[in-house]
Amino acid sequence: MTERLLPWLEARWQGVAERLAQGRVPHAMLVTGQPGVGKSAFANTIAAALLCTERDAAGSPCGQCRGCHLRAQGSHPDLNLVQPEESKRIIRVDQVRHLIDFLSLKSQYGGYRVGLVDPADHMNVNAANSILKTLEEPPAGAVLVLVASEPHRLPATIRSRCQQLPLPVPPRESALVWLREQGEGEAMLELAGGAPLQALAYAREGMGEKYQALLKDLADLAGGQRAPVEAALNWQAESLNVLLALMLHAVAGLIRLRTVGVDGMRLRDADRLQALAKGLDLVALHQYLDRLVEARRYVEHPLNEQLVVEELFIAWRRLVQTGRTANRH
Ligand SMILES: [Zn+2]
Repeated sequence: MTERLLPWLEARWQGVAERLAQGRVPHAMLVTGQPGVGKSAFANTIAAALLCTERDAAGSPCGQCRGCHLRAQGSHPDLNLVQPEESKRIIRVDQVRHLIDFLSLKSQYGGYRVGLVDPADHMNVNAANSILKTLEEPPAGAVLVLVASEPHRLPATIRSRCQQLPLPVPPRESALVWLREQGEGEAMLELAGGAPLQALAYAREGMGEKYQALLKDLADLAGGQRAPVEAALNWQAESLNVLLALMLHAVAGLIRLRTVGVDGMRLRDADRLQALAKGLDLVALHQYLDRLVEARRYVEHPLNEQLVVEELFIAWRRLVQTGRTANRH
């Protein structure tokens, strides 16, 4: 194979490859797993194996044949990749209709017709309904590969018609070996929830610095050195998605500090968090965590992000103040 499979996905791949080698190809597969475990790469390997004309006995693509070359160049006529259009996060119904038309055509190279939808959990309702019809009556020779970090956002009727392929988060040691091969350390692994590709992306995006900046803002808000509106301005240029990931990590860390204490943490920034955690109410922290999870829904909708950030900072300050007032009594 030209493209090396991510090492922690090898065992999962064996299972898929075996089915392909035996000709037992499901007409739809759903690759799931948290962000950064390698879902897109895995889905691409499935597509590669389906389009390869010289698959080895174990079911893996050869990386050499015309099918493999065309796929690697992104120009295989029997492969259709559906993604959200640039700057948008939604896959629309006309994109899916185009895919369905594509799947119903005859194969150009006499093999499978492969449709790859990544991320499938970003299809809007109409798009999802549209793809459901194809899953109910799949055209002969067509294979759909769906990718989703949040498969629960897909209708159950779609999920039940796909063979589900959940990808694991690798053991910490394997993740570290791989990260070192990429020239990175462990700093971002925890923030990335143990997912190596996410940790690598975070390291290269400077998430570590951003996290430190957030902890400072949270401390300044708590101490009254900064107003919520001011703090929100600091994050104006940042995507809400990134800020929420950082805040979720910080608040989850605070909750862990209040429950299992510093011993249970593998955080370099435990000192900073400890100072923040002082006097905070655990119930209120959990409520705040819920609020952050809830705020992630807004990421999908066009609305005033700045307002969302301000509200989160105001709620944070209230949380700190309430905790401290309560502790004085
Ligand atoms: Zn090949």
